[in-house]
Amino acid sequence: MDEVDFVNFILIIVLLFFLLFIVSAPFIVAYNLFVWLKDSFFPPKIDNKKRQILSNNCNFYSRLDSSEKERFESRVMLFLKEVNFSSRKMLLNNEIKLTVAGVAVSLTFGLYDWNYPLLKRVIIYPSTYFSKITKNKHKGEYNPSFKLIVFSWKDFKHGIKYESDNLNLGLHEFTHALYFSFLKSNSKDAIRFIENFNQILLYLKDENLKNQLLEAKYFRDYAFKNKYEFIAVLIEHFFETPAELKAKFPYIYDNLKVMLNQNPIQLK
Ligand SMILES: [Zn+2]
Repeated sequence: MDEVDFVNFILIIVLLFFLLFIVSAPFIVAYNLFVWLKDSFFPPKIDNKKRQILSNNCNFYSRLDSSEKERFESRVMLFLKEVNFSSRKMLLNNEIKLTVAGVAVSLTFGLYDWNYPLLKRVIIYPSTYFSKITKNKHKGEYNPSFKLIVFSWKDFKHGIKYESDNLNLGLHEFTHALYFSFLKSNSKDAIRFIENFNQILLYLKDENLKNQLLEAKYFRDYAFKNKYEFIAVLIEHFFETPAELKAKFPYIYDNLKVMLNQNPIQLK
């Protein structure tokens, strides 16, 4: 094959790929539209066994009325369809997947944009694990580049079992995933979330208010590491001890209520 033939050959290959793209593009768009319409009008169904698992493992769900439960269930099923689960050194089952999805759906239940666009994978370890990414031992982590959350199942379970100790690994990591996606979004929910959180951060600039927060010893020290940890820890408190948070720092509670469009005091 001389040089001219080779160039022609490459051009033909490029042209063929281009034609293939042109021909297939409308089918891909049509298929995605079909899936979107199907999921919007006929969300994946939940059965009684799965409902029972949600009732046993997700207090947020069990306190909802019947129409809210229906909305919660369809979001859980969509979450499980969108997010890929895997495990290391342990077996994965429906109970684990539904319990994790239940926490994710609880956090964003008040929002229209509830579904974590910057999350595609969840990996479960039995307990604390050594992270190849950070080279440290972890109970959990969120990685926006990999759209990945990793949990130690032991610590995740602790988070949902002890409801008032302000430690909830699931809520913590899902808050990271939510905050990162809202930083990149212009939706109404995202704008309201970011504006109100910036308002909270502004309080921290007031030395008196910051000292009040530190001296109260209510939020663990880790909260003050950076703004990402601060919002994650605030939200753990918002769900676990909402009445105490409102009594101690009403302005923070009110901002969080607007950010998530829900009021956990009514559910507790
Ligand atoms: Zn964190």
